[in-house]
Amino acid sequence: MPVFFVDDDAVKPPHITIRGPLARHLARSLRLRPGERCRFADAGERRYLGELTTVTPTTVVATIVREEPPLPPLRPVILAQAILKGHRMDWLLQKAAELGAERVIPMITGRTIVQPRHDRAGAQQQRWTTILREAAQQSGRSRPPEIGPPCSLRECLAATPRESARLLLWEGEEETRLARWLPRLPQLQPIHLFVGPEGGFTPEEVAEAVAAGAQTVSLGPLILRAETAALAALAIIHGDMPTEPRAAS
Ligand code: SAM
Repeated sequence: MPVFFVDDDAVKPPHITIRGPLARHLARSLRLRPGERCRFADAGERRYLGELTTVTPTTVVATIVREEPPLPPLRPVILAQAILKGHRMDWLLQKAAELGAERVIPMITGRTIVQPRHDRAGAQQQRWTTILREAAQQSGRSRPPEIGPPCSLRECLAATPRESARLLLWEGEEETRLARWLPRLPQLQPIHLFVGPEGGFTPEEVAEAVAAGAQTVSLGPLILRAETAALAALAIIHGDMPTEPRAAS
């Protein structure tokens, strides 16, 4: 069951009152009816099961059946992804949201094919934000991943917090496999995961990332598409996370 994100002021126990685009989506697109149940999450990531009592395209009201336990903690993964061409970037963002990425940083690297156009930056950012939000709701997350403005690999490395592990996916890495490197990291230590474009990172970019403290890691001997590599890495990273839910705050 998807989880719909609502603003904090929509939640006034025992009711949740929704207006605007989400009300229209529930009433018109999903054709929900009074009596049906939905899950909601507010900005504080509190999760609720609600039973719909009013459903119109302008206003939806639900009675809170119960507050639900938070999802088990996920290791924060910040995906620093070289911008890919067209729909492949859109598809990658949707899957990264489903696979639990906390934040996405679109990167411009030496071999990035698509150079973001300043006159379309706002519209592109908005489209990417919508893709992440819809995918996060669909997968039942408590909040959508954020997406930052495009930046260079150098800027991205410089902005990576000290406490974050820096892992760069590199098909030229012959020793260190991602799956074997992970157990060395504290279970909830954030990871900044750097993934190249269709043409890969340049040797100079790999050297610069290593000099900035990144560990190059391999996903095996096969050359994966960038979007495949990013998603495989997210699945590996989140595959061994704890299952117990956080204590209700
Ligand atoms: N050098 C590649 C080639 O020969 O086609 C081009 C890069 S690959 C299509 C795109 C990105 O996916 C790479 O920059 C890297 O980040 C990641 N990648 C692909 N295969 C990988 C592997 N086996 N191990 C680690 N990263 C990989």
